[in-house]
Amino acid sequence: MPDSATSPASDARLAGHPAALRRTFAIISHPDAGKTTLTEKLLLFGGAIHVAGAVKARGEARRARSDWMKIEQQRGISVTTSVMHFEYGGAVFNLLDTPGHEDFSEDTYRTLTAVDSAVMVIDAAKGIEARTRKLFEICRLRDVPIVTFINKMDRESKDPIELLDEVASTLALDVSPMTWPTGSGQNFKGTFDLNNNRMLVFDNTDRSRIGEVIENYTIADSNFAEEVELVRAGYPAFDLESYRAGHLSPVFFGSAYNNFGVKELLDAIAAWAPPPRPQPAEPRAIEPTEAKVTGFVFKVQANMDPNHRDRIAFLRLCSGKFRRGMKLTQMGTGKILSVNSPILFFAREREIVDEAWPGDIIGIPNHGVLRVGDTLTEGETIKIVGIPNFAPEILRRVRLEDPMKSKQLRRALEDLAEEGVTQVFRRVIGGDHIVGVVGELQLDVLKTRVEAEYNVHIDLEPAPFETARWISADTKADLEEFMSANRGGMSEDRDGSPVFLARNAWELGYIAEKSPKVKFSDIRERS
Ligand code: GDP
Repeated sequence: MPDSATSPASDARLAGHPAALRRTFAIISHPDAGKTTLTEKLLLFGGAIHVAGAVKARGEARRARSDWMKIEQQRGISVTTSVMHFEYGGAVFNLLDTPGHEDFSEDTYRTLTAVDSAVMVIDAAKGIEARTRKLFEICRLRDVPIVTFINKMDRESKDPIELLDEVASTLALDVSPMTWPTGSGQNFKGTFDLNNNRMLVFDNTDRSRIGEVIENYTIADSNFAEEVELVRAGYPAFDLESYRAGHLSPVFFGSAYNNFGVKELLDAIAAWAPPPRPQPAEPRAIEPTEAKVTGFVFKVQANMDPNHRDRIAFLRLCSGKFRRGMKLTQMGTGKILSVNSPILFFAREREIVDEAWPGDIIGIPNHGVLRVGDTLTEGETIKIVGIPNFAPEILRRVRLEDPMKSKQLRRALEDLAEEGVTQVFRRVIGGDHIVGVVGELQLDVLKTRVEAEYNVHIDLEPAPFETARWISADTKADLEEFMSANRGGMSEDRDGSPVFLARNAWELGYIAEKSPKVKFSDIRERS
């Protein structure tokens, strides 16, 4: 574990550039593993909040669905804090919130395309859970480096070796423990810092106290000494290159609730987590040190008030020094935007900023011009790639109450699909609209917004399908053969790409096996 974070790992590529100090990351976890609690503790260290509970209150409010809608409506633009900018130990952090619980959505996945690294929080009693695994897979698409935090050691936990082996085998990831716990639950006594031979003591009687650190600690307990030797011999040592390539994850044990192990985690991110990466783009990759500004929109947050069509687009800066008032060109349409009120988000407030650097996220208020996946530049024609659509996990058929409004409905669904709220598929036979989301709450958002903003009343009925896959084949003939043989399941997404809708996973497996020339994909890059 790094001693201090005063000197974030130098990166020759970025030497002396403000981008070198940026750490843009997200926390991935299964609901209830402790993401909100950990976020709060990280922000406390960053001085971004002063009262424990500030983030918690927000987390709980968000979970109550009706409250969430009401608050959104009253305040106009969403109150959910999507990005938290803070400084600590000489580094500048941008922590991107990945919506969880009911507000889980495609945004959760897409946010992971805008980070340079992630922290994976695991509940020590539960190990790897479904959503952690799914989010990890999304990180793996880009080999995003991951630091693992095994949380809730103050509760009875699984055996730590078992936990490490579970991470390693389920995720096919090398793990390198940085600290090693002694006991758990009532017997949790702290963690031993394997690299610096010091003991971080957990005060079981006063859990609010930040534990003592004993330097040059000699382990007296022979069982524990033996275990530590075993662990040192059994797992690879930390290797920065391997971590940054996404192959090895350093692992910390702690308790977010008790603020135990959190500082060590934050120090590790400051010291090791990568600064902004070169951004894949067409026709060439973009280096963060380039003089001209580029960025991409990974999320659009709408105003729930039908009278105000304002949106905030979240722009991840990839290069250049952004200055307030700049004119940026939207690739594709060629529209030029004057960015006069760029917003930087802190834990409790937001501010108009005068400048920002690669790795930073700025909010750009606009009237619906900016869409998810958009590239903004100072004029150069270049398109950032790698911001995909993810196959929806919940499908519904849209039933229109007033058939005279089918044109409005189509427009509403297309607009909201472009904004990234839902995906929409039009069936080849019959022309039904099937909408797809990855989180239930998006269905409510869709219905509310179609009614409020487009004055179209709809019902969302169960669809006869459970699974959607983009299909492709080496030759057009192969694709067309498949499409005509399976017309009942064929549809088009908003860009006209063919999507096969399967009644269930079994049918998908069966048809895929019968159609070896066709590729079924659960990810599609936005064009
Ligand atoms: P999230 O759903 O991942 O954001 O999880 P939360 O941060 O809301 O935590 C879920 C529950 O676990 C809450 O009741 C927290 O107080 C509790 N919790 C979080 N961290 C710890 C911990 O280190 N120890 C214990 N005992 N409970 C924790």
